Amino acid sequence: MIFDVTPKQLLEIAGHKFSSIYKWQLARYRYGMGVFKVDWALSEQVPFKSDVCKQAGTVHIGNTFEEIAQSEYLISKGQHPEKPFVLLAQQSLFDNTRAPKGKHTLWGYSHVPNGSTKDMTDSIEKQIERFAPGFRDTIIGRHTYNTNQIEAYNPNYIGGDINGGVIDIGQLFTRPALRGSPFRTSSKGIYICSSSTPPGGGVHGMCGYHTAERVLKDLFPIHYSVKI
Ligand SMILES: Cc1cc2nc3c(=O)[nH]c(=O)nc-3n(C[C@H](O)[C@H](O)[C@H](O)COP(=O)(O)OP(=O)(O)OC[C@H]3O[C@@H](n4cnc5c(N)ncnc54)[C@H](O)[C@@H]3O)c2cc1C
Repeated sequence: MIFDVTPKQLLEIAGHKFSSIYKWQLARYRYGMGVFKVDWALSEQVPFKSDVCKQAGTVHIGNTFEEIAQSEYLISKGQHPEKPFVLLAQQSLFDNTRAPKGKHTLWGYSHVPNGSTKDMTDSIEKQIERFAPGFRDTIIGRHTYNTNQIEAYNPNYIGGDINGGVIDIGQLFTRPALRGSPFRTSSKGIYICSSSTPPGGGVHGMCGYHTAERVLKDLFPIHYSVKI
C-alpha cells in the first residue's frame, strides 16, 4: 500500500501497524507556513507597470529582497505582514479556455502563519496595486481560502501548508523520518509517497517518482532499474 498523505493522516490510518519509534518520529513531524489564497475574475489583464510582468505566467511580488525577508520573518514569528510576499499566476494570458473572450483569471497567495484564519485579501490586493495601479478596478469577482478552508479543500494541506511540511535542513532528506529509505514505513508493504517525502512539495511529482522506484526495487531487487 502506498499512501499519498502526510504523517498526520498516516498515523490516523495505519498507526496501529507501526513500531513505537516510527510513530514517535511521525508525531514529531513539523508543518510549515500556511497560505491565504485568492482566485480572481478580471475584466482585463492585470495592469502591471512592467511590460515583462504583463507577459509572465507567474509573477512573484516582493519588491526588494529585504522586504521579502522581513515579510517571511514576521510570518515565521506568527505575525501577518502588511506588505506580504505574493505569488501570482496568470494562466488566462496563455490559455483562452480559462475565461470568456477579453476577460481574465488570476490566482495568488501569500504566506501566513500555520492555521491562521486572518483574511489577507486587502493586504494582497494592496501589494498588487503597488505594482499594477488600477488592478482593483479590474476585479469582477473573487473567491478566497484561509488556511482552514484550504485544508478542507485538500486534507494534505495541514494548517494551510501546501508543501507537506517544513522544508529545512532537518526535514529535507529525512522527511518524514530518519530512515534508510524515507519512502518505507516501519511496516513491510506500507509506503508513503506524498510531498512529506523527499524532495518535498514544489518539485512536480518527484516524491511519487522516487517512491515508485523504491517500491519496484523492493519487489524486484535484482532486475529493476528506472530510466527516465
Ligand atoms: C496554490 C498552490 C500552488 C502550488 N504551486 C506549486 C508549484 O508551482 N509547483 C509544485 O510542484 N507544487 C505546487 N503546489 C504544491 C503542490 O500542489 C503540492 O505539494 C502537492 O500537490 C502535494 O502533493 P501530495 O502528493 O502531497 O498530495 P496531493 O497531490 O495533494 O494528494 C493528496 C490526496 O490525498 C487526499 N487525502 C488526504 N488525506 C486523506 C485522507 N485521510 N483520506 C483520504 N484521502 C486523503 C487529498 O484529498 C488529495 O486528493 C501548489 C499548491 C497550491 C495549493
